Formats: sequence, C-alpha cells, structure tokens
Amino acid sequence: MSASIHANHLIIGGGSMGLAAADYLAGTGEPSVQVLDAHSPPHDQGAHHGETRLIRLAYGEGGRYVPLALRALERWNELERETGESLFLPTGVLNLGLASAPFIQQVQASANQFDLPLEVLEGPTVSQRWPGWQLDERIKGAFEARAGVLRVERILECWRQRVDRSENVTLTTGAQVVRLETLQAGGYAAFCADGQRFTADRLLICAGQHVSPLLAELGIELPLTRVRKTFAWFEADQRYAPKHFPGFSFTDNDLGIYYGFPDIDGAGFKIGRHDSGQILAPGEPMAAFGAYPEDFAELQQVIDRHLPGVGAFRHGAVCQYIRSPDEHFLIDEPLPGLIVAGGFSGHGFKFASALGESLGQWLASGRAATELTGFGLGRFRGNVSP
Ligand SMILES: Cc1cc2nc3c(=O)[nH]c(=O)nc-3n(C[C@H](O)[C@H](O)[C@H](O)COP(=O)(O)OP(=O)(O)OC[C@H]3O[C@@H](n4cnc5c(N)ncnc54)[C@H](O)[C@@H]3O)c2cc1C
Repeated sequence: MSASIHANHLIIGGGSMGLAAADYLAGTGEPSVQVLDAHSPPHDQGAHHGETRLIRLAYGEGGRYVPLALRALERWNELERETGESLFLPTGVLNLGLASAPFIQQVQASANQFDLPLEVLEGPTVSQRWPGWQLDERIKGAFEARAGVLRVERILECWRQRVDRSENVTLTTGAQVVRLETLQAGGYAAFCADGQRFTADRLLICAGQHVSPLLAELGIELPLTRVRKTFAWFEADQRYAPKHFPGFSFTDNDLGIYYGFPDIDGAGFKIGRHDSGQILAPGEPMAAFGAYPEDFAELQQVIDRHLPGVGAFRHGAVCQYIRSPDEHFLIDEPLPGLIVAGGFSGHGFKFASALGESLGQWLASGRAATELTGFGLGRFRGNVSP
C-alpha cells in the first residue's frame, strides 16, 4: 500500500456538490483541501451530464428552499461574471399542472411567501403565448420569468479549471473510495480501490450513489435509493427556440411528472420524466436508453398530446437520481467533522452554487450551516420535519 496523504479537509466525490465546495474553498485560500473522484469530472457516470438543468425559484417542493435558490442564482451570476462564460440562460420556467396539483399550489405559495414575481395563466392562454404548447382549460401555468436553464457540464468544467489552477485544492481523479475509517487521534481515513490512503481532520462525503454504502461502513444507515432515469432530445420547429419556449415542469395525474428544455444550441427539444424509474443497487450497471419500452413511450405520449411542433426522436440518455424517502435533501454531520450531502432526489443541481458555499464554510469553520438545518437525518427518526 502507498503512503498516506494528509489534508485538512477531504471531499469525497468531485461532482456537482463536491466541485462546488472545492471551488468555494479554492477562492478562500483555506489550507490543504483534497478532493477524490472515482472518475474525471465532468463525466456521465453520476448525475451531472445531459447538458442542461432547470433553476426555479418559486419552489414547488417547499418554501424553505426559496432563500437557497435565490442565493444560488446570485452565485451563478457571479460565476458567469468571473469566468466570462454563458452558464445561465434566462429562458423563464413554466410550471404546468392541474390547478388542484399540490406542486402548482406550492409554487404559488412559495411566490406569495417570498414576494416572487409569478404569472398564473389558464391553459389556453399559455398556448396562445407559447404556441409550442397545446393545453386545455384544465391545465394551469405558473410562469416565472427570472428562472431558466443552467449549462451543467460547462459549469463543472469551469469549477474544475479553477480548482486545477488553485494552490490549496488538489483533485485526484480515478480515485474510487471503497472504505472509510475513523482515526483514534481524531479525523478520518479514506481508502481507495487502488490502495491509496488519504487522511483528513474533516470530511465531506458527496459521492452520489456511494454516500450510503460508505456511511454504512461507519455504522450509519442512510435511507437513500438509487434510481435509473431517462431523458431524450427530439427534432423541433422554431416554436421551441429559447426565445419562444421556456423551460418547464409538467405534472399530470395520468401521464406523470415531466420537465423539459427549449432547443438550445441546436441540440433539440429535451424532455425527461421526473417520477418513476428503475431502482438499482449502488455500483450496479445501468441499462442504456431504450432498454425498457417505456423509456421512449412515456416521453412520446406527452409530445403527442401537448407538444405539436416536436418531431422525430434524436437520441436518449440515462442518468441517476439518489432519492430520499421524502425527496428532500439529506445534509447532516452524523459524526463530528464528518459532513454528508446526498439524497438530492433529482432536484439538487440548481442549488449547487449555494450549497458549495455553505458546505465549504461548514468544512472550514466546523460549524453547521444554519441554512441547512431541516435537511438532517433526524427527520427520518421522527423528530424534525423538513
Ligand atoms: C436526468 C436528470 C435531470 C435532472 N434535472 C435537474 C434539474 O433540472 N434541476 C436540478 O436542480 N437538478 C436536476 N437534477 C439533479 C441534479 O443533477 C443532482 O441532484 C446533482 O447533480 C447531484 O449532485 P451530486 O454531487 O450529489 O452528484 P454527482 O454530480 O453525480 O457527483 C457525485 C460524484 O461522486 C463521485 N463518486 C461516486 N462514488 C465515488 C466513490 N466511491 N469515490 C469517489 N468518488 C465517487 C462520482 O464520480 C461523481 O463525480 C437532475 C438529475 C438527473 C439525473
């Protein structure tokens, strides 16, 4: 076995959350930070590929996310200014669903609580304004003009470049952590599949599908499930250009829950399903797009009913959600100096810029970030609601 490498702070998983935290710490000059990733981010083996992610502010998953989303948007704008890259496209986001849908009601409640601009429209009015949609009066639209699209992979590239240039943060790729250990003198050791050993005073674990098995090594059981998710790009006419068609979420009692994007940079109209999916064990190989008949059929049924200018299928892809039982994040410090950030349940990326800051500050100061209370494990033990 090779000699051990010591750092003040160790981040396991250099994906969305890990690189965001590393980038924040690179900017603060915090002494020695070591990041370990099993692959070479950005890559397509986790949850951060597929070109685009939505950012919404009037939050259908709960008002408590709104301050975090607002901070995240500030930080995305900051990253754009600092790098000179186009990372956020202000396409607006249209949340569509039955007026009675809890998600739509919560979008409106979040907007009211935080005084966020939101236009509420009947289905036929939505279709007049955005002819890419064909909707009847049962559907309501809640449009948020400030929301939009994040270029996820480009963002990870920016963070990676800044981390690579920094003097205090080291990213080691191809470093798959297989075991953790608490050290008698305090701190933690991480063992990699290739025999490398890293030690640190404080540890942040944001290793997607491996958060749960790595914590189990330390006797901490996390209720997280890995789910295979599919999405695809289609030909589309001019109605789906970013200036004519906002990003969207669509909640339907019969069809399910979907999200999608305008045709950005000629990539095609993109749509994915948010609910359902196939449960996989950590490490289990994921079947390619098309392995299940529903991969294509469930996307096509929404297109056939509601999206008249979307044409031929171009290509599809698979990705993974790491779901918690209530689909809220799981962020906690279950052992002193060991912070865990996982269970992002398919809606975490928009917050990564703000979470990177909070998690980075938590690592550096040793003090729990107050904005993250409520995401803790305690709620699964029945004593805190998110
Ligand atoms: C199809 C799809 C669509 C989505 N759409 C949206 C959206 O529109 N808006 C939104 O906000 N969110 C969205 N999300 C969710 C969002 O992308 C995720 O919540 C977020 O990327 C999770 O970040 P993460 O850091 O936990 O995971 P990742 O970015 O996957 O990072 C985890 C990292 O850990 C590394 N790793 C894993 N195991 C180990 C190990 N043992 N040792 C070392 N390294 C390891 C991996 O290589 C990876 O780089 C979507 C997700 C998917 C899959």
